[in-house]
Amino acid sequence: MYKELNPPSRILMGPGPSDVHPRVLKAMAMPLVGHLDPSFLQIMNETMELIRMVFETKNELTLSMSGTGSAGMETVFVNILEPGDKVIIGVNGLFGERMTDVAERCGAEVIRVEAPWGEIIQPEQIKAALEKHAGVKAVAVVHAETSTGALQPLFEISRLVHEHDALFIVDAVTSLGGIKVGIDENEVDACYSGTQKCLSAPPGLSPVTFSKRAQEALAKRTSKVQSWYLDLSMLQNYWGQERFYHHTAPISMNYALREALRLVAEEGLEQTWERHWKFGKALQAGLEAMGLSLHVAEEYRLPQLTSVRIPEGIDEAAVRKQLLEQFGIEIGGGLGALKGKVWRIGLMGYSCQPRNVLLFLSALAQVLEQHGYKTSSNESCAAMLETIYG
Ligand SMILES: *Cc1c(COP(=O)(O)O)cnc(C)c1O
Repeated sequence: MYKELNPPSRILMGPGPSDVHPRVLKAMAMPLVGHLDPSFLQIMNETMELIRMVFETKNELTLSMSGTGSAGMETVFVNILEPGDKVIIGVNGLFGERMTDVAERCGAEVIRVEAPWGEIIQPEQIKAALEKHAGVKAVAVVHAETSTGALQPLFEISRLVHEHDALFIVDAVTSLGGIKVGIDENEVDACYSGTQKCLSAPPGLSPVTFSKRAQEALAKRTSKVQSWYLDLSMLQNYWGQERFYHHTAPISMNYALREALRLVAEEGLEQTWERHWKFGKALQAGLEAMGLSLHVAEEYRLPQLTSVRIPEGIDEAAVRKQLLEQFGIEIGGGLGALKGKVWRIGLMGYSCQPRNVLLFLSALAQVLEQHGYKTSSNESCAAMLETIYG
């Protein structure tokens, strides 16, 4: 017979998923109700309000898609783009690259604006692309590029996009609940996120939001949305007043998201961001005190995902394996252009706690010493504590 499920105890400090708060796990263990049960309808309504709160938006069309962050990405592109539409996409990491693939599958003409992995897309690059190509329908960027650790400023690009009457699309999968996204302030027209990064719920849902301008563009479509499952014109009737059956919402995941968002509301949105900044900076100070160098320039460095360069001659996979096996700590390796070059350390949501930073820094210093890299665990932890407590 198969044994009872007994997953190992881990500290999730990779690029996601992050550790899940016990209250979220408890919410998921609650009994099911039907997805059209009046009590579930109330849960859906409350969840929509809470999603608006974290996105900082009044957008009516705000709901959670059934699927992970990539389903949110696909939702935005399949609904906004029709075959032949032009879209400018900022590519400075894996997720920008994924957006181009999704947009091409919609039959759109993709105009790539690129920057090296770890850098940001400059507003001038977007400006030049908008001036070169007439009739661009949308411009998309990744707010928090999880594959590199870079934080993309939004406002200036948003202004340029709207000057050219295009829609502004933002990937906020790793930013939402970790740093300010500010949908209304930044005039973002379409945005998607995910549950398992800074919202600290398991993977499975993708909160999305669309501005009035985006809704008007959806209403003007002349062709059917290519995806039945992700077609917002039908989903709006499921999440809206009609409550028209579309698909069965994943009930337990919706319990989880509601509880995760309630935790953010309880802590306070600003306090949540402050916590990420504080402990993210502390981690970064600790890594630098160890003599390691961070991949992203300080001004564009995310707090919730830090990419640190692997020292010469260190077997990066062996270090990660040892961290996992001996200390139960999961961190991520590099992807794409950064494969074999960096480790990616996440401090997202419930994982973003000082005790995790301290444990990770001490464990990494010990493991690196064993691999022949000379460092001081003491100095690293002191630098971390100094950053937090002054
Ligand atoms: C994780 C992530 C995604 C994809 O989300 P999945 O939940 O893995 O489908 C998209 N964009 C960014 C920036 C991410 O970090």
